[in-house]
Amino acid sequence: MLIQLSTITHLGLELEGDILKNELNERMNEGKNNDIEFTKDAIIKLKVDLQPVGYLVNGQISTQYKQPCGRCADQKDNKLNLNFVFSLIEGNPKDYEEGIVYYEGFSINIKNYLEELIILKLSPYLLPEIDKKLKCSLCKKVFNGKDLEKEKIDTQKPFADLKKMLH
Ligand SMILES: [Zn+2]
Repeated sequence: MLIQLSTITHLGLELEGDILKNELNERMNEGKNNDIEFTKDAIIKLKVDLQPVGYLVNGQISTQYKQPCGRCADQKDNKLNLNFVFSLIEGNPKDYEEGIVYYEGFSINIKNYLEELIILKLSPYLLPEIDKKLKCSLCKKVFNGKDLEKEKIDTQKPFADLKKMLH
C-alpha cells in the first residue's frame, strides 16, 4: 500500500486498499506450527494528515481468519478489526520506535508495517475459558472430567510434585 507523500495538502489524503489473504497466509507460514489461516483479504482504510513534522496516519484494518480452538480443535471463524495510528517521519534511524514509521523520498509502502500490525494482534494459540459446567466458552462444548482433572494438576498445582519430593 503506497502513500504518495508529495501529493498531500493541508486537507489530508484518504486512501483505501487491501492486502490479499494469500500474502497474509504466506507471512503467517513463515512462523513454525502456524495454524491460523486468513479467509478474507484485509481491507484497509486510512487518512494521512500533515503534522508539524511529518505526517499522521489514522486507519482501520478488517479481515477474517480461522483458527482451531485449543480445547476442542474445532476450526473457528474470527473477525479481526483493528484501529491504528502512527507517525511518518523522514529519516532512516537504526533504532526502532513504536508508533513511528520512517520514510525516505516522496512515497512509502506501508504494506509490511500493516502486515505486522495484523500478525501482532493474533494469538498463536487459542485457549478459551471453560465455565463451571465445564463448557468451552467459545465452542460451547462440554468437556469430560478427565480433561479438566489433568489440567488442574498441570496448571494449578505446578509445585505439587516438588512438595512431595521435599517431604
Ligand atoms: Zn472449544
